[in-house]
Amino acid sequence: MSNTVIRTEFLCKSFGELEVLKDISTVIYQGEVVAILGPSGSGKSTFLRCMNLLERPTKGRIYFHEQEITHPKVNIAKIRQRLVMVFQHFNLFPHMTVLQNVTYAPMKVKGVDKQQAQAKGLALLTKVGLEAKADVYPSKLSGGQKQRVAIARALAMEPEMILFDEPTSALDPEMVKDVLEVMKALADTGITMAIVTHEMGFAREVASRIMFLDQGSLAEDTTPSEFFQNPQCDRAKQFLEKML
Ligand code: ADP
Ligand code: MG
Repeated sequence: MSNTVIRTEFLCKSFGELEVLKDISTVIYQGEVVAILGPSGSGKSTFLRCMNLLERPTKGRIYFHEQEITHPKVNIAKIRQRLVMVFQHFNLFPHMTVLQNVTYAPMKVKGVDKQQAQAKGLALLTKVGLEAKADVYPSKLSGGQKQRVAIARALAMEPEMILFDEPTSALDPEMVKDVLEVMKALADTGITMAIVTHEMGFAREVASRIMFLDQGSLAEDTTPSEFFQNPQCDRAKQFLEKML
């Protein structure tokens, strides 16, 4: 049997009266690359943020490696070391150099010694094509470079899964490709990923699975070829007509 990384059971999230997620039950297995698609406001970010409890579900349960993380006694900071998030707006530490951004959490949170953290950090910056920027501050970088640093920073924690919330939406078009290439290379390493994206080409080529959200419901949960060639629900058909 495949290894379960995330399992949600009847996941619901409301903000006041507004029901944003409605009874989402699904499983993400190790090595899957899940693209989460859907119209603006359909609950994609909220769904992703629930996975590492940046949002607390109103009802239902979430399991990470079969440990119930919605249980009140769980140390969620520990879970977030293994289940990291990359944000649309990068969220780099502005007062730290690129290398310091990448080494900070491993040193502070995991107690890795400085030399080791730096060696690993430089190797990761090389992987994302930014070793030359190690000593530069984020303000000197383009958006695409910032996002690649954010990805290197996420990888420095050696996570088991990475959550991406529209990682290329804030970028100028010419920067998007570099970031998507880094993400494709990552996907090829076999790390589990969930990606909220509007990049349909990327979703089709790189994702192993598509989840389509419609007004907070998981309306389709299928393979890319099924979703793009033969969408089942009308909302998905309309969505694809607009996007493609
Ligand atoms: P998406 O990422 O698909 O665009 P979101 O998950 O960001 O959708 O939002 C879904 C709905 O929940 C939207 O109507 C949004 O306005 C609302 N929402 C999201 N976050 C909050 C919040 N913190 N407080 C109140 N409403 C929110
Ligand atoms: Mg969103």
